[in-house]
Amino acid sequence: MVGLAKYIFVTGGVVSSIGKGITAASIGRILRSYGLEVTAIKIDPYLNWDSGTLNPYQHGEVFVTRDGMETDLDLGHYERFLDVNLSGESNITTGKVYMSVITKERKGSYLGSCVQIIPHITDEIKQMVRKMANKTQADVVLVEVGGTVGDIESQPFLEALRQLRNEEGHDNVMFVHVTYVPYLKAAGEFKTKPTQHSTKELRSTGINPDMIICRSEMPIDAPLKKKIAHFCDVEPHAVINCPDVSSIYEVPLVLDRENVGKYIIKRIKLGVEEDSHDLSEWKTIVESLKKAEPTITVGIIGKYVELEDSYISIRESLKHAAAHVGAKVEIEYISAEDSINTEKLKNLDSILIPGGFGERGISGKLDAVRYSIKNNVPLFGICLGMQCMVIEFARMHGFDNAHSTEFNQKTAYPVIDMMEEQKKIKDMGGTMRLGSYDCNLKEGTMAQEAYAEEMVEERHRHRFELNNEYREILEEKGLIISGTSPDDFLVEIVELNDHPWFLGCQFHPEFKSRPNRAHPIFVSFVQATVDNLK
Ligand code: GLN
Repeated sequence: MVGLAKYIFVTGGVVSSIGKGITAASIGRILRSYGLEVTAIKIDPYLNWDSGTLNPYQHGEVFVTRDGMETDLDLGHYERFLDVNLSGESNITTGKVYMSVITKERKGSYLGSCVQIIPHITDEIKQMVRKMANKTQADVVLVEVGGTVGDIESQPFLEALRQLRNEEGHDNVMFVHVTYVPYLKAAGEFKTKPTQHSTKELRSTGINPDMIICRSEMPIDAPLKKKIAHFCDVEPHAVINCPDVSSIYEVPLVLDRENVGKYIIKRIKLGVEEDSHDLSEWKTIVESLKKAEPTITVGIIGKYVELEDSYISIRESLKHAAAHVGAKVEIEYISAEDSINTEKLKNLDSILIPGGFGERGISGKLDAVRYSIKNNVPLFGICLGMQCMVIEFARMHGFDNAHSTEFNQKTAYPVIDMMEEQKKIKDMGGTMRLGSYDCNLKEGTMAQEAYAEEMVEERHRHRFELNNEYREILEEKGLIISGTSPDDFLVEIVELNDHPWFLGCQFHPEFKSRPNRAHPIFVSFVQATVDNLK
């Protein structure tokens, strides 16, 4: 079945971590600037059904979609660059594909057949990709294949996309290969051989790339591009250079200067005028992100700090908010060890405690909460961060060793406890309270003032909650409950008066911040930090 959508498949070569997701998202941003509807899919060839059970050290942050799927962090880039809300179906994994095929086999859907990678697995992949096209009715479906060409795990996906190109037709499908062109200092030159090899590897699967995007440390020149075009059998103006830039938000502008949009529009006949696009809003965003004064230093106290990607949406949200406020944010990642030497916190203008799981690092986070309260340093707690704020607040108000039952089941004061509905759940995958839920805001609170709304919708990922048995007493001690679920049963936001800015939320606002629409709570936090400098 040939649909109406056009497809752009993005593969990667040479090495991982060259920013394939950002590159794909930037292509999407350019196409959006032509007024086209664009949706995106990330293919993760690993066997996990979703990213929810992966350690952030390995794969970075788990991005939660509005519909409650725990997905790859690239979906965050897509949402931020395309300014769309994606569904969980935008993340296809080998686990999902095989689970679906095996479930069908058990039901008898393939009775009589020997179920095989080709055609059953490849058909399933094609169906999942086409489903997104049909569901969203987007003009363009961008599909990024995770990993690098040549990985065993990605082969069925490449085969499926190759078939899809034949079925949908040459005019409706194109392949973009993202590679890396290293500069060898000793030789004083760039080397194209890795790009040639990875393109050869791609071509061995039957896929000829239409465009090659060469990532490099510095700009490469025209003769080098010509050489790549020649050896990789790509048109010279379809060899694109994307050198390192200081901000990821500049990438769409870099690709635009290389005429990426113009080429794509012609190649897959998108039916829009070559020069009809407008990236001026994006340019304004990039400019506002360059603001250098005043600079605030925000400390992120977490346990996955060795890999910055673990907190990528928080980092981006802080940048969006700083641009909105007219400031620059420097982030210091501080490991939440057993306990934190508060000397490390002295240079911070404010503190953010992000989400997390497990006991390691908890006492360090509690130290940071006490430090914030005692020294009037703005503090923003997200999910586990909010829970730590409640625990330490309780301890400072007479509930010695108050804790969360996640870390101490026998605590005398379980101020944070597992949600009732979670207690009967045994499986770990996809079983938390996930995705968007409404939150009622209490009038006259900092949260309500920040949002300037009565009811908001935010994304969640947790099993534990403020224990309602302690709600009244904690309120008597001064904790303000400024947001709850509409039935008033779950506490969603807490804050303190008599403090420059102290707010914790059970949800993850970082998943909703966009460069053109900074999140109100992040804006309020950054503004308070700036005001507190004086
Ligand atoms: N571990 C805590 C819970 O499950 C916090 C989760 C989080 O920070 N995402 O409730």
